[in-house]
Amino acid sequence: MAVLAGLSREAYLYAVAKWIQDKSVEPELLYRIYLMVGELAIKHKWRVPKDKELLRGLTQLAIIEMVREPRCPHCSGNKCKRCGFTGYLWLNESEKARVVGIDRASWFRRWSKRYPIVRKIQSYESEVFDKLRGERI
Ligand SMILES: [Zn+2]
Repeated sequence: MAVLAGLSREAYLYAVAKWIQDKSVEPELLYRIYLMVGELAIKHKWRVPKDKELLRGLTQLAIIEMVREPRCPHCSGNKCKRCGFTGYLWLNESEKARVVGIDRASWFRRWSKRYPIVRKIQSYESEVFDKLRGERI
């Protein structure tokens, strides 16, 4: 798509996954974010348990939250009390721990504080919007 030309590869994949909902780009997006999470882990000297696919779990969680925006099962996105009238039901802390593949205790002790750093490297949304703003449609 010409309108997305000039974006970083990650932002491009993110835009396609999110707005066109093309699931075929998700493996590459997952892989690229996974590499960045790996770099973060090295940079911040995170000790990652060897028997768990924790970094992959963190990547998975970030993608679920950013790309999929889980629709509220109670109202199917029509906005109700259960989802705070947003139409989306975000994962609670226990569910996040489960996606990452660790127990609640280690999620709270360590990884819930590190996770926002993982989310922050994905500033693709603003990259895409900045690009679109410059285009005349
Ligand atoms: Zn709802």
